[in-house]
Amino acid sequence: MTSTFQLYARNALLPEGWRQDVLLEWDANGSLTGVTADVNAAAAVGVEVAQYALPGMINLHSHSFQRALGGRTEKAGDEVGNVKDSFWTWRDLMYRFARNITPEHIEAIAAQLFSECLRHGYTALCEFHYVQRAPDGAMYPQPAETAQRVISAARLAGIGITMLPVLYSYSGFGESALKPEQRRFKTDPQDVLRIIEALEPLRDAQTEVGVAPHSLRAASVAQINEVLVTLPPDRPVHIHIAEQEQEVAQSLNWSGRRPVQWLLDQVAVDQRWCLIHATHLMRDEVDELARTGAVAGLCPTTEANLGDGLFPFEEFMAAGGRFGIGSDSHISQSAVEELRWLEYGQRLQHMRRNIAVSKEQRNVGDYLWQHALQGGAQAAGRPLGALAVGKRADLIVLDDEHPNLFGLAIDEVLGSFIFSGNDNLVRDVMVGGQWVVRDKQHVAQQAIAARFKQTLAELREFR
Ligand SMILES: [Zn+2]
Repeated sequence: MTSTFQLYARNALLPEGWRQDVLLEWDANGSLTGVTADVNAAAAVGVEVAQYALPGMINLHSHSFQRALGGRTEKAGDEVGNVKDSFWTWRDLMYRFARNITPEHIEAIAAQLFSECLRHGYTALCEFHYVQRAPDGAMYPQPAETAQRVISAARLAGIGITMLPVLYSYSGFGESALKPEQRRFKTDPQDVLRIIEALEPLRDAQTEVGVAPHSLRAASVAQINEVLVTLPPDRPVHIHIAEQEQEVAQSLNWSGRRPVQWLLDQVAVDQRWCLIHATHLMRDEVDELARTGAVAGLCPTTEANLGDGLFPFEEFMAAGGRFGIGSDSHISQSAVEELRWLEYGQRLQHMRRNIAVSKEQRNVGDYLWQHALQGGAQAAGRPLGALAVGKRADLIVLDDEHPNLFGLAIDEVLGSFIFSGNDNLVRDVMVGGQWVVRDKQHVAQQAIAARFKQTLAELREFR
């Protein structure tokens, strides 16, 4: 009989690197209780066997409703040649889409997204959640209505979640009033604290709650500090920071400082912080941000899709920085694609190869996966990112019957996984000790997809 709480991996990626003959054990709560390498084969009799097991990736930045926008924004606007399409014209389309979406739609879209993220190697996700009011701009009777819907979707799909209710009060630097199309996003510090309080009973081994000031455009430093004095000190704090050059210029205009500099000068940024899209940095900002111990949240496919620019990755890592990856707008749901784009952007920029390496770790795939795990776990504020006792039993098993994994030395496996072709090599996925993907199928895939299809049909009527 196969034990429910054990897995035997011929090869497992542990914090120190690949080890052989690893027995993984976990408890009924889904936490790892034993990780033993070099076990005797007899110890594995009756235990399920995996050829390659590695920790599932953390997706540290998600706006899940944007999954339903995929493919709808890849067409030039009317004023081609006059006003070029940009992040800002994309944002107008996104606002239009967000106008009519209901809590039921939010839940259905999120469940579809989460099942896809799981199939592509993510086992946890941080939801940067800002559609919090009804279409007419009123608060829902339950202030955490839409956040609860996203958490329900995470539970249905079986992905771990860090919910980050967003503080969103202004449309630009200097506390400019929100635009009508932003009325569903409006929150002040008291609203956000009420939402966080309403979510408190939902916190458990799979669910954490932090906060996200949307950006320095949408929240003032005084507001950010007002929320932080009430929030327990171990909760994650995420913010969008320097995604666009126009945003940097507006910050300079208004404050005399660039956004990262402004934030670091005014707020006590530390390890619980995650700065999303810290794309446009000066040299001193790179060093200072690295020194804080905060995580740089990189979203390479979305940043490419929106024409944001490239993060100074090599300089930041050389300064001791920490990073994780997110799929943000969800034009990709693949951890592999994010990491591949991250490395390729740097190669194209520097016209060199193998950028994400160190003296100790010369394998690009291993470097990317391990560092993104550490940064992602820190940003999620949950015990994730390693096959180690006390961490969650969140792991993926690769398809060892796929030709891309034939004939490789163990230190070449992640190189092939991340850089070879577009087949999905993630075969099985476990979250908190439960299998949620088996043989590349999510356990609730059909029901979730049927609801997603129905949701898109309803949303089409509002276009
Ligand atoms: Zn974002």
